[in-house]
Amino acid sequence: MTDITHRLAEVQARIEAAARRAGREVGEIELVAVSKLVPAEQMRMVYDAGLRHFGENRAQELRDKHPLLPQDCRWHFIGGLQVNKIKYLVGRAALIHSVDSPAQLKEIERLAARREVKADILVQVNLAGERQKGGLPPGAVADLIRSARDCPHIRVCGLMTLPPRVPCPEQSRPLFSALRELMDELRHSMPIDERTDLRLLSMGMSGDFEVAIEEGAHIVRVGSAIFGQG
Ligand SMILES: *Cc1c(COP(=O)(O)O)cnc(C)c1O
Repeated sequence: MTDITHRLAEVQARIEAAARRAGREVGEIELVAVSKLVPAEQMRMVYDAGLRHFGENRAQELRDKHPLLPQDCRWHFIGGLQVNKIKYLVGRAALIHSVDSPAQLKEIERLAARREVKADILVQVNLAGERQKGGLPPGAVADLIRSARDCPHIRVCGLMTLPPRVPCPEQSRPLFSALRELMDELRHSMPIDERTDLRLLSMGMSGDFEVAIEEGAHIVRVGSAIFGQG
């Protein structure tokens, strides 16, 4: 076993333990290996160990690595979303986690229509009100989801959040539960159908994925705990 596959196995065991503690099925939690700045050969080790979901935070990096790994990989875009770079993502990314503006929706819809694909997205929510970070304040999320209903090639699959770095994972817990509660509220206040399929919570990283799972995460985005500090 390499260091990477060893760490991957450890992360997977911790995910299973957290799911068990929370009384959840481990099958409802997807591990996305965040591979930003990680060379394709190292991603291949994780692929060979059975993982298929990779997360990138730069659109060109996702575009460039996409052909270097087998076709059954599922690519997640988790970074700040510039409208002029969306062209690298539509048709390549299985899920775009970081949508937070009508201009992004418009460009995703335009490209998805032209390329004849459906684009699955999450809306990023900025729960701590951090200025330097992306994401909408919770009160603005419903309006963006309503605008997405006008985009026939877009499916809103859920919500994502990226909490402030904190020394203790327990400090993230209130934000994770707030994201879950926000999705519950939205599910009650708008029609749930093929286009607005609010089902997935993307939350939790290397430092706090267990707490996120306990609070209901469906997707955890784990980089350094698998690939090392880089
Ligand atoms: C880098 C990154 C991660 C993974 O962070 P680690 O602490 O290395 O696990 C998760 N989500 C986003 C949005 C990131 O940019």
